[in-house]
Amino acid sequence: MNLLRRVRVRFAPSPTGPLHIGGVRTALYNYLFAKKHHGDFILRIEDTDQNRMVAGAEQYIIESLKWVGISPNEGVGFGDGTHAPYRQSERKDSYRQYAEKLIESGFAYYAFDSEEDLDRLRTDNANAKYDSTTRLNLKNSLTCSPEVVAEKLAAHEPYVIRLKIPADEEVIFNDEIRGTVTVNTNEMDDKVLLKSDGMPTYHLANVCDDYVMQISHVIRGEEWLPSAPLHVLLYRYLGWEGVMPKFAHLPLLLKPDGNGKLSKRDGDRLGFPVFPLQWTDPKTNEMSSGYKQNGYLPEAVINMLAFLGWNPGGTQEIYSLDQLIEAFTIERISHGGAKFDAEKAKWFNHEYIKACSNETIANLVAPIVQEKFGNIDSSYLIAVVGLIKDRMVLINDINAFGYLFGATETYLEANLAKVSGVREIFNADVFEATLKALTTFDGANVEIAFKEFAAAQNIKTGDLMKFLRVSLVGELSGPAIHDLVVLFGIDQSLIRIRNCFQQL
Ligand code: GLU
Repeated sequence: MNLLRRVRVRFAPSPTGPLHIGGVRTALYNYLFAKKHHGDFILRIEDTDQNRMVAGAEQYIIESLKWVGISPNEGVGFGDGTHAPYRQSERKDSYRQYAEKLIESGFAYYAFDSEEDLDRLRTDNANAKYDSTTRLNLKNSLTCSPEVVAEKLAAHEPYVIRLKIPADEEVIFNDEIRGTVTVNTNEMDDKVLLKSDGMPTYHLANVCDDYVMQISHVIRGEEWLPSAPLHVLLYRYLGWEGVMPKFAHLPLLLKPDGNGKLSKRDGDRLGFPVFPLQWTDPKTNEMSSGYKQNGYLPEAVINMLAFLGWNPGGTQEIYSLDQLIEAFTIERISHGGAKFDAEKAKWFNHEYIKACSNETIANLVAPIVQEKFGNIDSSYLIAVVGLIKDRMVLINDINAFGYLFGATETYLEANLAKVSGVREIFNADVFEATLKALTTFDGANVEIAFKEFAAAQNIKTGDLMKFLRVSLVGELSGPAIHDLVVLFGIDQSLIRIRNCFQQL
């Protein structure tokens, strides 16, 4: 292994549906590793299985990566690098030569079997595979004479090219997370490399592209571990073993109870998104919510995902993207699956919202506010955010603060009953005069004015506060009352207070 090799990693999704957050995590770990080592992060679209492609999925992947802010420096949708095109369907013609090279060197062969032939193989023995024990009973270039093979090829008979897996050999390779992995070739089958339509399979395209694109590390989900021995053999037989990338197979993202892989259904059932962005299935029109639309900040999602299966050690949990890059190492990726924790996701978001400037959050809530409450002055919105930011877990929580954008007209009987004790003793005119007498109208002075008013009018401060709160916001909890009065201004506050008072 060339230790001075430039770090080049790739995220290589197949656009068969929306990118799951597990996929975003895979992309993130690749990104962090690349940036940490001043290398390249590539987005390659693996769309060789055209039957499984889903309209809009590729665009969704690109937009998701953009939203979370981990842009590849080469790849589909992110500008051309020296290895364009990065969509495998556009590289189709490049793969055949490698499959043919393997045939020439005796590591692969043509197989002409029909579907029925293959069904028969399995009818005789349900566990039968196309391998060293069965291939000599099937229709391929190992069992047909060279003349017959030439005839079949000349007659354009459909064929696939299969890798000739040897019997009873140990394939040993190192996984950067799991250590040495050993698989006996008897457990493998003669995988198809080139399909009858001339398209490569995932295995051939993936290995050839990793080689051609000079990928140094393959960081991908654990579900691809069973394919790795086959890939190792491909590197060996193609004469590329010396530049074979290092492999790191990431632990699974598990359901909150740890019982299996996290799925879309878990999200629906437990009320959290499993996709970064909202997705509408083009066939069924079924809509799935996304972190963005649910009011998460991309920085919080990234921080949360980074910690699902990796941690830098220590107690600090809030890491910016730059800090994650600095701290990231493959050694600290956990070996076991990581349980998804919806509450932790919210905790991260809350922390990020609190740490953002009021202006930033105001910009994010503005479209929601505009749609629900109409045009709101931006400086007012910034002031609103200043009051409620610490209570917001999601950006969409702004919806719960409608009273900050319009006065409560009618009050809940139960709330009125709780404050009706002030009916005989609260004097709205005196209250107005007290506020208007203030030379400096700010939270601290308004709070003092409340206390002075309560003392002068002989109202218990607690009773006064409860009445003011209900009259200002219609509820028994919310931001500090003096802050609300400053936010609304004296006139608007008095309208609300007098209105409530009349209803007591
Ligand atoms: N196309 C594979 C996927 O959809 C890529 C696996 C790999 O990274 O090798 O995940």
